[in-house]
Amino acid sequence: MESTFYPGPSKVYAQVADFMQDAYHEGILHINHRSDAFVDLSKKTVQLLKKKLLIPHEYTVLYATSATECWEIMAQSLLQDSSTHIYNGAFGQKWYHYTQKLTGRHSNFHLNYLSFDIQELPSLELLREKAKNSEFLCFTHNETSNGTALPVEFIQKVRQAFPSHILAFDATSSMAGVRLPFDLGDFWYASVQKCFGLPAGLAVLVCSPKVVKRAMEIQENRHYNSLAFMLEKMEDWQTTHTPNVLNIYLLMRVAEMIPSVPEIERRLQERKKIYETFLKNLPGISFLIQNSIVRSTTVLAMQASEDRITELKQKALEQNIILGNGYGAWKNTTFRIANFPSILASEIELLKDFIHANY
Ligand SMILES: *Cc1c(COP(=O)(O)O)cnc(C)c1O
Repeated sequence: MESTFYPGPSKVYAQVADFMQDAYHEGILHINHRSDAFVDLSKKTVQLLKKKLLIPHEYTVLYATSATECWEIMAQSLLQDSSTHIYNGAFGQKWYHYTQKLTGRHSNFHLNYLSFDIQELPSLELLREKAKNSEFLCFTHNETSNGTALPVEFIQKVRQAFPSHILAFDATSSMAGVRLPFDLGDFWYASVQKCFGLPAGLAVLVCSPKVVKRAMEIQENRHYNSLAFMLEKMEDWQTTHTPNVLNIYLLMRVAEMIPSVPEIERRLQERKKIYETFLKNLPGISFLIQNSIVRSTTVLAMQASEDRITELKQKALEQNIILGNGYGAWKNTTFRIANFPSILASEIELLKDFIHANY
């Protein structure tokens, strides 16, 4: 089988093959989503996620179908007056655009953005100006398109500077890969086809008590995925519609299997160091992100000449190695390596050998 380093959809945990068989044999595939069997499964999944990902007890975990859906849920069910989007890449910008489309019908909605350089952290000073009158601040925790991430220290500073704002984080390519400072934010989400090592079609949405309270006050209830409706159903561990039960089951099994997130993060950081040491000595190839403070642990973007990249990707394919394409503005001058937990140490050796042989 091929080795994929694509940062989403990405390699699923090898154990998923058995988990899928088990789902069939345990009769999971036809259980009713209002049955006790589903309630038990859903409750167990949430409890395991809280335990393994260190999600604060008082936070609420919900199921959605994708990160994109979480963008819409926020815009339709929480945004009333204003939001500011802080981004340096394609996913953060997409979130902004989705919000623009959905809030466009309120003529007095104040939508702002602050873009920042990929080698830097966002300026808190500029953010203070932009976000003075914003209720929500929206960040991409790990920007999959360019391999940048926001360090905990920065998130801490944002929390201190904006104690009463609602802080939202797209953590699609970092949740279940690195430890997230859930308590410093209010609205966190990720789809499962990245660090969870699962097939696409499910997302995990984590809300602080503040967000739950806001959603209940607003009572936006026009959609099947209105947040107030989702929260009401989740009080009984249920969903508003027939959910992706197979994927919830797989999520439960993966959550059961994985170590606690600090241990996962430690392993991924070790692997990142291996890549850094090894790639440092190769001419003509470098990390797109030179500033190690903002360099992601889970998605590594490598920069080289266009010709070199085309050749490398072609040769890799011949050897059943799939590298991630560059994305957006960096489409032709970078390739990406997913440093996700499902990838085996032996596959990293394979990739190292391959790059060595072709440089
Ligand atoms: C992959 C990704 C998305 C989109 O996820 P979907 O499940 O396709 O909606 C959004 N944001 C980030 C940061 C991503 O990496």
